[in-house]
Amino acid sequence: MTADATAEVVVVGGGVAGLSAALVLGRSRRRVIVVDAGEPRNRYAHLAHGFLGHDGVPPSELLERGRAEVERYDVEVRPGRVLAIEGQINEFTLRLEDGELTANRVVVATGLHDRLPDIPGLEEQWGRRVLSCPYCHGWEHREQRIAVLGFNSWSVHTALLLTQWSDDVTFFPHCWRLSEDEERQLLARGVQIVPGDVEEVTDAGPLVIRVGGMPYELDVAFVTSTVEPLDELLKQVGCATADAPPNAVVVNAAGATSVAGIYAAGNVVDTVAQLVNSAAEGARVGTSVNQSLLDDDVASALVSAVVGPPAAT
Ligand SMILES: Cc1cc2nc3c(=O)[nH]c(=O)nc-3n(C[C@H](O)[C@H](O)[C@H](O)COP(=O)(O)OP(=O)(O)OC[C@H]3O[C@@H](n4cnc5c(N)ncnc54)[C@H](O)[C@@H]3O)c2cc1C
Repeated sequence: MTADATAEVVVVGGGVAGLSAALVLGRSRRRVIVVDAGEPRNRYAHLAHGFLGHDGVPPSELLERGRAEVERYDVEVRPGRVLAIEGQINEFTLRLEDGELTANRVVVATGLHDRLPDIPGLEEQWGRRVLSCPYCHGWEHREQRIAVLGFNSWSVHTALLLTQWSDDVTFFPHCWRLSEDEERQLLARGVQIVPGDVEEVTDAGPLVIRVGGMPYELDVAFVTSTVEPLDELLKQVGCATADAPPNAVVVNAAGATSVAGIYAAGNVVDTVAQLVNSAAEGARVGTSVNQSLLDDDVASALVSAVVGPPAAT
């Protein structure tokens, strides 16, 4: 079947990881298409923090700048969603909702999904009054009344960490069964503990967390989401995964997966990466992919050299 476009590299996902890969490749004069579904993980937040040179920038503005930068080097950024990757190195076909692309190499930078506890009102506040990462948003809520909701094994760690930003931290274990050690650690750091199921979270001026019918007023809540890498494309095409949860697709130091020609960067393979790490991983993958294409270019040149130039007449 004839594809409606051809690129040396197709990048799936136009967050900071994908765009950073595209920037390196575009500047290396590779033909690159980025396909992006336009739903970066931090889209719920007003501002992004901790990314040197960009601290306090709205997430949408950060990516607008990124798209403008890659487009300077003739990278095409195409809105859309890749549904499947088929074929093999130098002959990949990517199925989109509205057509197909072919590529020699593929970079997957599709990010991850944050799964939250099923508490009424919680999702509506995600990225606003309900946050996940103390390093990203702790400073903005220093010395405020901070709640931490129990959900998974990271929850206690998050509560202990937040005592660096505020003396007023309350832990709501909710569905997390505190061990004796965890309880001792929390109490030693001055964290208050409110047992029972959280019934509702509402923004009523203060953030109100209701447990057993009792309203607790706070300024902000942190919950460590359970991370689910958006890696169906990689798994479908046969990329190897790690044995330990979240069973992420394995990449080597160059960002290469176990399938030749397919690379991955950012949260899809590194669930703890923040913006700066994801961008760095994308840039690293950009150089790896370019080197791999150069190896092909040199191999082709050697074949031509063996055949030799046409004889002079
Ligand atoms: C609420 C919140 C706030 C955060 N705040 C900060 C912060 O202040 N500082 C910080 O350093 N980190 C922050 N983070 C973490 C940050 O969002 C991630 O580190 C970063 O987004 C990872 O970048 P990425 O490029 O890997 O993925 P993403 O930014 O998620 O980008 C992935 C892109 O791929 C697209 N995509 C997915 N599937 C497909 C497909 N099949 N076809 C085409 N496109 C696809 C998505 O729509 C998306 O546009 C925050 C996270 C959350 C949840």
